[in-house]
Amino acid sequence: MTTILNGKELAKELRNEIKLEVAALLEQGHRPPHLAAILVGTDGASMTYVNSKERDCEFVGFKSTVLRLDESETEEGLIDKIEAINNDPDIDGLIVQLPLPSHINSDRITDTISPDIDVDGFHTISVGKLAKGMDTYVSATPFGIIKLLESYKVDTSGKHCVVIGRSNIVGRPMSILMSANSYPGNSTVTICHSRTSNLKEICKSADIIIAALGKPEFVSADMVKEGATVIDVGITRVPADNEKGYRLAGDVDFDAVKDKAEFITPVPGGVGPMTRYGLLYNTLKSYKIKAGIK
Ligand code: NAD
Repeated sequence: MTTILNGKELAKELRNEIKLEVAALLEQGHRPPHLAAILVGTDGASMTYVNSKERDCEFVGFKSTVLRLDESETEEGLIDKIEAINNDPDIDGLIVQLPLPSHINSDRITDTISPDIDVDGFHTISVGKLAKGMDTYVSATPFGIIKLLESYKVDTSGKHCVVIGRSNIVGRPMSILMSANSYPGNSTVTICHSRTSNLKEICKSADIIIAALGKPEFVSADMVKEGATVIDVGITRVPADNEKGYRLAGDVDFDAVKDKAEFITPVPGGVGPMTRYGLLYNTLKSYKIKAGIK
């Protein structure tokens, strides 16, 4: 029997919990949590993500501020704006939507955000703390996946977990979390990437596959062991004969793999909504730390 890991439903439940918590805080006379986002340029997917983050904030009762900057914004100009936000006591979380235009150094930008409000968890200090197993802001997608595995009580201890993709946003932090001495975690982790030579064999030996490579339907049924857990992070727009002209495709061939898997995430409706929840969770966490609320 295959269980579909329904991220959409779980995220809805968890978002409602945050909404209730915020309502209670406001009733006690506290100010609302406040998330700031910076978007540089007009990349279609980035604009969609920032809009949905704004809507999520509105839904749970957070204040949200979005700075929409021109594609030609300079690195120094962006740094000045980030520093102003770092010094604003009213703001609990700051994210700078990636990717940035090529004339801006993303590492320099993510390291300009104060680690205290680094709710995307991309600052070198946040990543270092994650690697050491210290409390920090875990970036939203890996956080959401961990929450999904935990909620569905997926057994991860001693399991072989194969992470496909080594990006700083998904694959790398995911591999750290799955190998951490915690639950979910305690897995034996193999991290694969574009230079991995025997990917199919490695995947076939996996109890858990986390696919984050951005190649539509890459993980086929013959790469998956009977009874495996399959987490599909991929979101790629592929041309489709519909109103939008595209559909969202995951990195896993869902229809072919689903009957082999014990647990599997759909796309859409799996990891995506959990990622959106992760950002709300981190913002509330930062707010509570600032306000000294347990
Ligand atoms: P990325 O392009 O930064 O990294 C892709 C990684 O995949 C690289 O490390 C690369 O080495 C590896 N890779 C590429 N081709 C490969 C191959 N043939 N075999 C093995 N490894 C290969 O991408 P990213 O930012 O990590 O995102 C990956 C996917 O996840 C994208 O589709 C992205 O849109 C999606 N994503 C989804 C969410 C979500 O909330 N669901 C969040 C972030 C990213």
